Amino acid sequence: MFPDHLIIDFDSTIITKESLDELAHIALKDHPEKENRLQKIESLTQAGMVGEITFDESLSQRMALLNADRSDVEMAIGQLVKSITPSFAKNAEFIRKYKENIWIISGGFREMIIPVVAPFEIHETHVFANEFIYDEAQKIIGVDSNNPMAKAGGKVLQVNAMELEGEIHVIGDGYTDYELKANGPASRFFAFTENVKRKNVCSHADGILNNFDDYIRMTGD
Ligand SMILES: [Mg+2]
Repeated sequence: MFPDHLIIDFDSTIITKESLDELAHIALKDHPEKENRLQKIESLTQAGMVGEITFDESLSQRMALLNADRSDVEMAIGQLVKSITPSFAKNAEFIRKYKENIWIISGGFREMIIPVVAPFEIHETHVFANEFIYDEAQKIIGVDSNNPMAKAGGKVLQVNAMELEGEIHVIGDGYTDYELKANGPASRFFAFTENVKRKNVCSHADGILNNFDDYIRMTGD
């Protein structure tokens, strides 16, 4: 049985890559400080995760180092639409059938997710993720810090606010996806390992999915 709601992660789940990494590599491609900046971005990610600085501050500082503009974002989208995880691409029809019950909850960016999930006909209103702030020159200068996804524990904050009812399944590759069951309303968490397999995530899972076919088989459709 398909659940009342299925929450799916984006980075390394629906797509094979991490969208922010893709954007970083494009934006810094010809930058003289590329390696140095990629390293700083990595340490800001860590500092945000362990709470040395707030999560949205970490995100905004990373954005500043990226020095990305709208054309970089568009180029990244061009790459991401070609990076849909094979078992999701293969089962597009199944996803379209259940699109009313499917939600994308991602620490990535709406702008880069919506075009990628368009072939699955997932509603824009079913996509919850961060949002870029641009200046007049179309440079990204930060992220919308009012968005729950820009805060620590953002996925849990967001999904709690949605007040979903009934059986709620979560599919993702990360610990923050598992937290939707540990600290949020999800009934079951499935670790998705087609792209990355993390031990500390799999050990908490109600089931391990080698691919999306494994999930379809379980729902009995
Ligand atoms: Mg992920």
